This record gives sequence, structure tokens and C-alpha cells, in this order.
Amino acid sequence: MKSTNPVFTGIETTIFETMSRLAMAHNAVNLGQGFPDVDGPQDIREEAARSLVEGPNQYPPMLGLPELREAVAEANSRFYGLDIDPKSEVIVTSGATEALADCIMALVSPGDEVVLIEPLYDCYLPMVRRAGGVPVRVRVSPPSWTLDEQALRAAFSDKTKAILINNPMNPTAKVFSEAELQLICDLCREHDAYAICDEVYEHLVFDGAEHRPLMTFEGMRERTVRIGSAGKTFSLTGWKVGYITGPAELLDPIGKAHQWVTFTTPPNLQRAVAYGLRKDDSYYQGLALDLAQKRDRMAKGLEAIGFTVLPCAATYFLTCGFERLGLGTTDVEACQRLVTEAGVAAVPVSAFYGGNAPTGFVRFCFCKQDWVIDEALARLSAFLTAARSESA
Ligand code: PMP
Ligand code: GLN
Repeated sequence: MKSTNPVFTGIETTIFETMSRLAMAHNAVNLGQGFPDVDGPQDIREEAARSLVEGPNQYPPMLGLPELREAVAEANSRFYGLDIDPKSEVIVTSGATEALADCIMALVSPGDEVVLIEPLYDCYLPMVRRAGGVPVRVRVSPPSWTLDEQALRAAFSDKTKAILINNPMNPTAKVFSEAELQLICDLCREHDAYAICDEVYEHLVFDGAEHRPLMTFEGMRERTVRIGSAGKTFSLTGWKVGYITGPAELLDPIGKAHQWVTFTTPPNLQRAVAYGLRKDDSYYQGLALDLAQKRDRMAKGLEAIGFTVLPCAATYFLTCGFERLGLGTTDVEACQRLVTEAGVAAVPVSAFYGGNAPTGFVRFCFCKQDWVIDEALARLSAFLTAARSESA
């Protein structure tokens, strides 16, 4: 038989699915895959239910329901002062994942280089490769994960078609600084490159830090596409409703990619997300505040039992070193032991690298109920105490 596409053949199942399967098999507390364990606002879910019953439930317009596209444009103005035309500058997608696929397919041609910042969300590399693009990776390193100017500069060339950045960033929990964003803008303009901005964690930013979309920087409006996810903004990750905002010239081919990927997204979910985006400021502030408290609860507990917890300014995630705990030499080994022996699932941070990854960090997801966080900490503590007394 002829070979299947090497981009997808023989590769591993995504780490998030793998860890969730293991968590289920071992009855573990699942702090691996990033999802809240309480569903988002009831009024948004009721809106989706009402709209499902009342209908219509037929194909919505390909680029998204007008009311959701208008709500996305309004949110861009309200939060970032961006002036977006809902008719030509917004596309609704089935999750940010689809949005990423559409943008990469539409902007990247075979042989184009795409700059990626590593650690990277795991779909980026296969998606760029599937488009025939050539990934050029630039690494940021713990604990500060600061972008190195020389390294980024060296990654750009005449062949650079785009940079794909994730800000706020999974798994580092970093919000890019103004200076880092300015550097990215300068390089994009110097090399006439596009910026694909995965900003799914835009509203999950803590301690007064502010998320500033790259699109708001001078000279970037016409070369940037910005991706959001209702899954993250409304704690409804299973809904898979995303949105792309960008200039009409870029959204035209991106919309053509979208028309043959999913074509559209369930209409009741679109109506409910339109309703959700118009929630008042207290909703958005409450979301971030609630998550920051969970972050603190988990960070304090993990530190107390010997993990090295790195700073976390945003997202759902804490990245931790485990060098003092005798959990093994690699993060994969540590996660395997944690899920099978301690009954707590985490994610090895090496899964966010294209190769030659550092292996000393694991990622814990903290968007869980307080008692779930406490249960996970109690399990970890009991396991580590038992392991210590065994080796003593
Ligand atoms: N980008 C990043 C950085 C993510 O962490 C995720 C996971 N939610 C996605 C994209 C995918 O988002 P969605 O579930 O809306 O497809
Ligand atoms: N974004 C989520 C994470 O980082 C996972 C999403 C998925 O499983 N597709 O955990």
C-alpha cells in the first residue's frame, strides 16, 4: 500500500488526550488537559439551549452569524480600541484550532518559513508542515521565558512569511512584554511578514497585567490576524467556538480555507457566544480574579510539597520543576509516576517542543474547584511522603 501523509503518520496522539485517557484509566485527578471542571455562566448555556429549541438550526452564514461577528467587533473595540468591520474583518470558526488551521493554510505556501516560539502549542508544528511551510523555532527559557532579541532577529529572513505567537502563552503562563511585542512588530515590518496571533487566553490575565494584542501596534493592523476562543473566555471548552479578526485582504483567503474545513459552526452556540461577549466588565474581572485565586491556592500547595513553581501571569497553567522530589529524571517519567502512583495527571512540558526538549518541568492545570485542587495536593503529598520513607 502507498504511504499515508508523513505529517500525520506514526506521530503520537496529542499529549492532552493521552493524559486525559490515563487520568480516566487510573481514576486520577486530572490536572493535565486544560479545561475548567465547572461549566461557564448558566445564562450563556441557557441562551444556547433556548436557541437550540427555538432554532433555526440550519446552516448559518459561512463566515458566522452577523450577531456574533458584530459582538466580536464590539469586543475588539471595547477591550482594545480596535476598529473592526464585522462584515469583512471577522470570521467565526469551530474553535481556535480551526482558526489556526485556516490562517496557516491561507497565508503559508510551500517553502515559506514560519517563525514559532518554543515551547509551542502542540498543533503548530504539524499544521505548518502540512501547509508545506518550514518552521523556524526560537526558544524562550525558564524561569522568565524572555524573548532573546538576537535569536529572534536571526530567525527572520527574506523567506519568512509569518510569525505565529501565542500571547498569553501556554504553557509558560507568560504575558509578552511591550518591548518583546515591539521587537516582533519591528521584525515583521522589516521582513514584510504576517503575524498570526493565538490569543485564546486574552481574558485570563492576572495581577493587573494587561493583554495587548499585537494588532494594536503601529503598522501591524494590516498584517496581523488575531484568534480568540469562546471556550476559554466563557469556560466552555467543549463548545469549540473561535473567531478570527483581521484585515479584509487576509480574511478573504482565510475565509476560503474555512469554507472547506468546517464551513460553519453550530448556530445556537454562535448566538449564545454573541450574548456572552456582551457581558459587563464584572464578568471578565471575576473570571480572572477567580482563576488567580486558584493559581495561588495550587502554587502554595505545590511549593509546600517541594515543587519549584515558576511565575504565572496568565492562562490556566503552572509550570513546575520537580528536581527535589525524586520523581525520575525526565518529565515524561515524572508524569507517568504521578498519574499511575499518585493519582494526579499533569502534562510533561517537553511535549511543547519540536525536539531536543528540556525535560525538567511538568504543567499543572489549576482551573479546578478548590476541593479538587486540595484533593490533588493531598494525593501528591501522601505519595511523596510514602516515596521518601521508602527510599530512606
Ligand atoms: N491555542 C492554545 C494556545 C491553546 O491552549 C488551545 C487550547 N484550548 C487552543 C489554541 C485551542 O482552542 P480551541 O479549543 O478553541 O480550539
Ligand atoms: N489547550 C488545552 C491545553 O493546553 C488542550 C486542548 C486540547 O486538548 N485540544 O491543555
